[in-house]
Amino acid sequence: MNSKWSVTIAFLLACNTSKEDVIENTEDIQTTEDTAFAEDNPSAEDTSYEDTSSEEPETNIANLRIHVISSQLEYLDAASIYTEATIEQYITDSNQVFLPTGITWEIESFVVEPALNEAIVIQSVNTGMPAPGTAMGRTVDHSLMLAPTGYDAYVLQKNAQFDNGGMYKCSLDNGSVPGAVFVPLLASNGTPQAMRKWAHELGHMMNLPHTECSQEFADNLMMSGGCGFAEIDRIHLTDDQIASIQAQFAIGGPAECNE
Ligand SMILES: [Zn+2]
Repeated sequence: MNSKWSVTIAFLLACNTSKEDVIENTEDIQTTEDTAFAEDNPSAEDTSYEDTSSEEPETNIANLRIHVISSQLEYLDAASIYTEATIEQYITDSNQVFLPTGITWEIESFVVEPALNEAIVIQSVNTGMPAPGTAMGRTVDHSLMLAPTGYDAYVLQKNAQFDNGGMYKCSLDNGSVPGAVFVPLLASNGTPQAMRKWAHELGHMMNLPHTECSQEFADNLMMSGGCGFAEIDRIHLTDDQIASIQAQFAIGGPAECNE
């Protein structure tokens, strides 16, 4: 990490107004197993049963709009390399992580949208200011967001220029626009992004901060990749984290910035 970014990160840590995820640099590649789901086709004999007692289990659906960024800047442009199937698999796998919360992420739609303000991203990359999350927040069309009634995830190609693996920006415009996650399709070394990066950023969007950097949390979803204790496939949630996610879901929409 060069000194420019160190200064930026130190500033971010000092002012603590943003949950930008600037230290997500563990390139943990997780292979995903194909998960086949049976079509929900009730068979004929099902209809012969008197369905009087079965209560449908309550399903808490968190609607997620996937915004695929299109851009002249290769590192921003996910539109040319993404497939819906790949992103659907990331969300399917993330749902395994969120299973203990009783909340299921469901893709509401895919929206391919051009980056509106690439100049500010170039400025951010070249000078460190504005911070990456601020630059990205000003680059996307806020009118196309699902929040605050749902959740938004922006997909870019690669975050190498920002020296991070993904981020949650708790407001896209200083409190006036809800927050969203930004997740690259590729890790900084060009390999496919790890599934847990999606689940981790979704965790931030549900109001989870990073855990402390200690052995106790080595396998925790919210352990930062920058912590020396971090295990590769960390996906676990504590009871407190599960309760926090459920509380945020009950409020509705993405977590707001902490004062
Ligand atoms: Zn993080």
